[in-house]
Amino acid sequence: MTAPPIYLDNHATTRTDPRVVEAMLPFFLEQYGNASSLSHRFGWEASDAVDRAREQVAALIGAEPSEIVFTSGATEANNLALKGTALAAKGQKGGHLVCSSVEHRAVLDPLRRLSRESGWHLSIVPADPHGQITVDAVEATLTEQTVLVSVMAANNEVGTINPIGEIGKLCRDRGILFHSDAAQAAGKVPIDVQTDPIDLLSLTGHKFHGPKGIGALYVRRQGRRARLSSLVDGGGHERGLRSGTLPVPLIVGLGKAAELSREEGPSDADRMRTLRDRLDRAIRALLDDQGVLLNGHPTDRLPNNLNLSFEGIEGEALLMGLRTLAVSSGAACSSAEPEPSHVLRAMGRDERLARASLRFGLGRFTTSVEIDQAARIVAETVARLRQSGPDGPANRRDLTRADL
Ligand SMILES: *Cc1c(COP(=O)(O)O)cnc(C)c1O
Repeated sequence: MTAPPIYLDNHATTRTDPRVVEAMLPFFLEQYGNASSLSHRFGWEASDAVDRAREQVAALIGAEPSEIVFTSGATEANNLALKGTALAAKGQKGGHLVCSSVEHRAVLDPLRRLSRESGWHLSIVPADPHGQITVDAVEATLTEQTVLVSVMAANNEVGTINPIGEIGKLCRDRGILFHSDAAQAAGKVPIDVQTDPIDLLSLTGHKFHGPKGIGALYVRRQGRRARLSSLVDGGGHERGLRSGTLPVPLIVGLGKAAELSREEGPSDADRMRTLRDRLDRAIRALLDDQGVLLNGHPTDRLPNNLNLSFEGIEGEALLMGLRTLAVSSGAACSSAEPEPSHVLRAMGRDERLARASLRFGLGRFTTSVEIDQAARIVAETVARLRQSGPDGPANRRDLTRADL
């Protein structure tokens, strides 16, 4: 058996922490009640477990438990926040929505649909060359008709952290709702919906060592209340905002993952930042500091993110040369002519450099041995591709995996 590749794709998903799995197991096997069955012990146990998890998730972001709505993940939380707001504000004809150019598709696509099918005007805020969304850039798009602004807390490709506290203040002063997709930031960097005036915030368990298929939308109830219509109707669960029998084991897992991140997030972050910087330095040193460009903000960046572009090579060849490394690339590896990353393009990277990029995502379980190996593998691959030249056999775009 060959060893599995080194996992450095933690922005795509993370390994479930064994302590999370352990916390979930009893809710599959013994305490399997429906959290709405309040006439017997099975139901009470499930309901108590959900209450506890709601407190754990709320504590991660400084919210009240009653402000947490469980969803299937950040995609659904974003859809509920954006379409739910639009539905609730339906009377407002000619309403205006704002989001950034570097949002995840789970924000861009619902907003594009609202603009295409429901008559909403949509403005896209440009990013600066570091992929950051400034308060001034947001302010320049606001109109009297703006109902909601959505800006992600941290970007999933380049890790750039946005000034969501300041953007939230701007929105609050104008009476505009502020939503933030915090799928990458939650559990990695501190978030506090009290100090930062955020009305709606999406998070998802599988990005911080929780299970897949469970997330939450924070909906402000204190002070100015965020008004939302539901998208999924039925039994009236989650204060009527998201019907459906609660997946108790997943919710327990999300709660445990949130608790672990609250307790260990700061030390995880320190460790990941040190390893991340070591990876960056090692790759550059092994390539004699030639043609390695950082994508993202030099300092306002997630501690587990490193996104690099390499000059003088083709992105597709790069990814194919890295089979012992589980990373993402700016060159989507598909048969049709792949679109380079919209995030890197929005930051002004040319198409070729956008394709010749790698996204490294570290996690709680990343080791220094893996980092040193990864640096060697990347540097050797890049050096080999460069040596063969842009038209050399190892660097042609029509190569298949078998040729390498
Ligand atoms: C992963 C991710 C999502 C989607 O989350 P799911 O829970 O998989 O639906 C949305 N936004 C960002 C920024 C992400 O990184």
